[in-house]
Amino acid sequence: MSAAAPTQQNCPSCGAAAPVLLRHSKLAVCEFCNSTLFIEDAQVASAGEKSVLTEIPSILVRGRKFITGNWTFEPVGRIRYEYGASEGYWDEWWVQLSTGKMKWISNDEGEYVIQNEFKLKDDPPAFDAFTLGRKVKLFDQMLTVTELNEATCIGLEGQLPEVVAVGDQHRYAHLEGPKGAMFTAEYDDEGCSFYKGAWVDPFEIKPA
Ligand SMILES: [Zn+2]
Repeated sequence: MSAAAPTQQNCPSCGAAAPVLLRHSKLAVCEFCNSTLFIEDAQVASAGEKSVLTEIPSILVRGRKFITGNWTFEPVGRIRYEYGASEGYWDEWWVQLSTGKMKWISNDEGEYVIQNEFKLKDDPPAFDAFTLGRKVKLFDQMLTVTELNEATCIGLEGQLPEVVAVGDQHRYAHLEGPKGAMFTAEYDDEGCSFYKGAWVDPFEIKPA
C-alpha cells in the first residue's frame, strides 16, 4: 500500500471536492457552486465564471449509461449553443464510450447526431467561401451548403475537452452531400474543425 495520501482536488471557489477528472478534460463545472474549473495537467488550475444550464427534457442524462446500436456510452458534459439572434438552441453532449473513446453527440429538437471529427487533407476553405444553397467541393465530394449561422455558448455542465465560456461564439456551416451525408464546419478565432454526422434514431437510444 502506498504511503502517499491521495491528492484531493478542490474547487478554488467553494472548496468542494472537484469531480474525478477524465483524461482529456480541459474544463469541469463544479457540481456545488457551478464555477467553471480550468484543468491543466489533470489538476484544477483555476476557477472561472459560474454557469447554470436550464434543465429541459432530454433523453440523455449526464452520469447515466445508454446504449444505441452496438455502442454503450455515458454523457459526461454538455455545451448549449444558441444559434443566430436567439433563434433557438441545441446541445452538444460530450460522451465517453465503453471503449474509453470520447465522442460528441448533438441534440437539436429531438434529433440526435453523432459527430465524427474529420481531418481535411488540404487547406480548409475560408468561411466566406460558403454560400447558402451553393455547392462546394470538400472531403472529395460536392456538398450543398444548407445552413450558415453563428453559435453562442449559453451554458455548460459536467466536463469538457475544451475551454469554453458563456458568450463564446463561432460560425458554422451545415453541408449535405449525396445519400444523406451530412457535415458541419465550425470556424472560430483559433481555426476550424469539421465533423461528419451520423443520425441516431432517438427511439434507438436506451438506458443501459
Ligand atoms: Zn465550487
